[in-house]
Amino acid sequence: MTLSFGRQFLAIPGPTTVPDEVLQAMHRPAIDIYAGELEGITESVRADMKRVFRSETADIYLYIANGHGAWEAALANTLSRGDKVLVLESGKFALGWGDMAIMMGAEVEVLPGKPQGSVDPSAVEARLRADAGHEIKAILVVQIDTASGVINDIAAIRGAIDAAGHPALFMVDGIASIGCVPFEMDAWGVDLALTGSQKGLMTPPGMSFVAAGPRAKAAAPTADMKTFYWDWDFREGELHYQKYCGTPPEHLLFGLRRALDMLLNEEGLETAWRRHALLAGATRVAIDVWGEGGVLSCRVPDPAERSDTVTTVSVGGGRDSAELRRFTQEVCGVTLGVGIGDLSENMFRVAHMGHVNAPMMLGALSTIDLGLKSLGWAHGSGAVEAAIAHLATATSVANDVAAE
Ligand SMILES: *Cc1c(COP(=O)(O)O)cnc(C)c1O
Repeated sequence: MTLSFGRQFLAIPGPTTVPDEVLQAMHRPAIDIYAGELEGITESVRADMKRVFRSETADIYLYIANGHGAWEAALANTLSRGDKVLVLESGKFALGWGDMAIMMGAEVEVLPGKPQGSVDPSAVEARLRADAGHEIKAILVVQIDTASGVINDIAAIRGAIDAAGHPALFMVDGIASIGCVPFEMDAWGVDLALTGSQKGLMTPPGMSFVAAGPRAKAAAPTADMKTFYWDWDFREGELHYQKYCGTPPEHLLFGLRRALDMLLNEEGLETAWRRHALLAGATRVAIDVWGEGGVLSCRVPDPAERSDTVTTVSVGGGRDSAELRRFTQEVCGVTLGVGIGDLSENMFRVAHMGHVNAPMMLGALSTIDLGLKSLGWAHGSGAVEAAIAHLATATSVANDVAAE
């Protein structure tokens, strides 16, 4: 029996659900790339991306690429072959960025994170203090690691760099976090930040964005890993097509323009952050209740380090996570994320990232609950009820009145 015919729910951490408004904005013929409307869209997107990154001082570069492209752009414009890079590990993604740096000619050192946890700022400070000769030129970290489900405290890591008095460039991957959780490029002293179109920005995959602050820009003239496509200099030329080093991705821009209107002007960035926090909180509450049965548990041990965009769930008790994912997908039409990273690990991921609201999240949680029952997995009862209670408290009219 299948109950899956109806709207499909994508609960994977990217690409995320694309709003109908964004899809509709993309459904139009191509337009001139040399003059007119598109130039205005480019300028408005660059201005609005500064609002998303929360930076007055950064320059925004637009790439027709996924997040990996933004990684390469960041490295190519700021580093030279042989430069030393410190990668702060907290899962899988910063390591991937570091592997890219190795292939491009950098020397990479990995600072391990806490087991299944975040970057420890005091370890960063100690490592940087030991680098008295300032050999380390850049520090790479992700804000949220999409594989482990961990969030790093970017402001605290900046504090550690400052405490060590170290001049390395501080570069942050916000692909799974920007637009969803607080990120403050200027206030946190981030030199370079990057993100992609297909997660918090609710747009199809295919564009990524680098925000280069003054110190990153100052490194560019002497950086020697540049190639033509990624080079910032060329992209600062006067002609519109130079901003993209070729034909602009018109339809992605139409979609992104609409998505930025939704995020910044209709919902508001801070409201979106709050929405993510609440839906993530409801998800974690449900997992804690299911966990009473001894099969499911939150994979990140420290509650303070669990991200508000993706929750990683460990499966034990002799059960196989693939079985639950198959049930939710094939019988119910809800796609959960597979575990990535250590392939032997028995886990799944639930995303609460981008264009998701209460019924979508409660629907996904209810479907997991249904799966546990249908498959006969031991679980605490009342998980969805507890998730609802969590949201009820946060949304109660009484709270609103009290807040006024
Ligand atoms: C998704 C993701 C990436 C990779 O982005 P792609 O668009 O798949 O290249 C990098 N870093 C983080 C934190 C991500 O979540």
